[in-house]
Amino acid sequence: MTSLHTSENGARHDARNDAERVAALQAEIRALAATRNAVVLAHNYERPEVQDVAHYVGDSLGLSREAAATDADVIVFCGVHFMAETAAILSPSKTVLLPDLNAGCSLADTITAEQLIAWKAEHPGAVVVSYVNTTAAVKAESDYCCTSGNAVEVINAIPADRDILFLPDFFLGAHVRRVSGRDNIHVWMGECHVHAGITPQALSRQRGEHPDAEVLVHPECGCSTNVLEAMSAGDIASDGVQVLSTEGMIRRPESSSATDFIVATETGILHRLRRANPTKTFFAASDRAECQYMKMTTLPKVLRSLERMEHRITVSPDIAARARRALERMVAIGGAAPSSGPVSTAADPGE
Ligand code: SF4
Repeated sequence: MTSLHTSENGARHDARNDAERVAALQAEIRALAATRNAVVLAHNYERPEVQDVAHYVGDSLGLSREAAATDADVIVFCGVHFMAETAAILSPSKTVLLPDLNAGCSLADTITAEQLIAWKAEHPGAVVVSYVNTTAAVKAESDYCCTSGNAVEVINAIPADRDILFLPDFFLGAHVRRVSGRDNIHVWMGECHVHAGITPQALSRQRGEHPDAEVLVHPECGCSTNVLEAMSAGDIASDGVQVLSTEGMIRRPESSSATDFIVATETGILHRLRRANPTKTFFAASDRAECQYMKMTTLPKVLRSLERMEHRITVSPDIAARARRALERMVAIGGAAPSSGPVSTAADPGE
């Protein structure tokens, strides 16, 4: 009994020490950010304590827009490398810092600019559409970028007789091919490792355990585009399913009569959902759906990044100019209206 009490007291003590350490680090980061005229941007999939210290939390497109709009001189980008590159492309006069250079993306890594050039040579005249989860060099070789929300609109804007090379996400490519009804879309076989946790089977299991729960799908990154694809194929029943942008997802529980929600995306977004909707209950479609690249950014790394002004993410002016053209075309096609419904083709700032 005594030892049980001792260990409980010890655990409480440790938790208090951890909370104090986190609060102290966050205070240091905020103070140094003010001194440096820096803004801290964090992706929805980052660790909770990193989200909590950020000036803005959102999806990668939202973060890029914030990066372009900010008056700050320095942007500390708590996300993965290709997202920091996108911020650098859209905000060339600002210093963009990535706290951990190893924060990559398994989906973006499936295709290099050299591989894309070789693929284009096999399909002369084809239009290249790249999901935003790509490096700056791949974007520079692309005609259009797209998000999961406006991919179908981008495809529909391309003349029906032109071949299309769609990359790198196989599931999103299969989805747009089915929804658009075009058979001249060639799809790169890339995938994000995180989606492997969010299978139709895992989702069905959770729906069986929580039959009254509404399902929220946020097809950001490649982590849940397989769910989108399974719905358009009819492999997942679409009743009670909402496909939403980040902001739509945060707002949906308040307007819904449901009290329980199953969330099909990377688990990091649960932190924001729970904080914004404390009376509702959220379950991950799969607890395995965690992106370890996103979790590489820790508070000590954010602090060090500001102290040493590292690691600067730059994109050469030539690549940036060509990549910007593809990104601007993405923004020009479709607005930013949140989408809803089982398989929406409306523009959505999804990724
Ligand atoms: S969730 Fe997947 S697609 Fe998104 S950053 Fe992580 S590895 Fe890349």
